Amino acid sequence: MLSSKLKCLTVLAALMTCTAASAYNFKGYYAPAVLVSPMRDDIQYTPVGMGVITSKAGYRVHPVTGRGDFHSGVDLGAKLNDRVYCLLDGIVTRVGWRGNLGVAVEVYHPYPNLRTITGHLNAYSVMPGMRVQRGRVIGYAGSTGRSTGVHVHYTVMNESGEYVEPMQFIRQVPQYVMALRTFQGQLAMTHNIKKMPKIDTKLIDSESEDLPPSKGDCGEKKGEEKPPSASIEP
Ligand SMILES: [Zn+2]
Repeated sequence: MLSSKLKCLTVLAALMTCTAASAYNFKGYYAPAVLVSPMRDDIQYTPVGMGVITSKAGYRVHPVTGRGDFHSGVDLGAKLNDRVYCLLDGIVTRVGWRGNLGVAVEVYHPYPNLRTITGHLNAYSVMPGMRVQRGRVIGYAGSTGRSTGVHVHYTVMNESGEYVEPMQFIRQVPQYVMALRTFQGQLAMTHNIKKMPKIDTKLIDSESEDLPPSKGDCGEKKGEEKPPSASIEP
C-alpha cells in the first residue's frame, strides 16, 4: 500500500536524524520545545498562521486515489517543518500516527466543546493530557500519511462526532477567545473539563484514522450521489 510505503520512508528519515524510531514508536518525531507565538485576539488565524487553503472539506476527487471521497477537513499549504499552532485554549487528547492522517495531534477545546485534529505532521511538540493555549506550537508541518506533499490537514468535530466546517470554526475563533475572557466562558470551560473522560497520556498509533464515517457513506456504497451535508460549504 502506498500509505505504508510513505510511512516507511518517513520512518527511515526519522532514523537518519534521530537515535531510535520504529513504525509504531514516533518518539523520534517528538520536538518538545515549548514555543508560543502571541496571537492577537481579533485576528483570524489558521493552524499555520495565515495560510492558503489548498483543499476544502466535503466531497471531492481524492488527489491520491483519484476516486470520489469525503474530505473530513480543510487542507492548508505549508512548507516542511512550518510551525503548526493551536488556535484556541484546550487539552491535548491524542497524539500519534493515525492512518491516512499520518502523525496527528488532537486537541479538545472545552469551550466551545469541539475537537480539532491536525494531521500529516512531520513532528509533534505536545503530549496527551497537556494543557495548551492559543498560539502554542503543537507540531510541525509534514507529509506523513496519505498525502501528495507537505500540507496541514485540519478537522473539526463536535461532541457527537459530527464534522464541523473547519473554516467556519476558524472564522469564529476570535469570538470564542472573547467569550473565554468572560466569567460565563470560564464557567463553561471548567464545567466541560470536569465532564471529560480520563485521557490516556500514552501515544496512540493506529492504522486507521479513527474518524466517524461521513453521513453520505451508506449512499455511496449503493452507488448514489449524495450532496454535501448542510454544514459544509460548496
Ligand atoms: Zn486533508
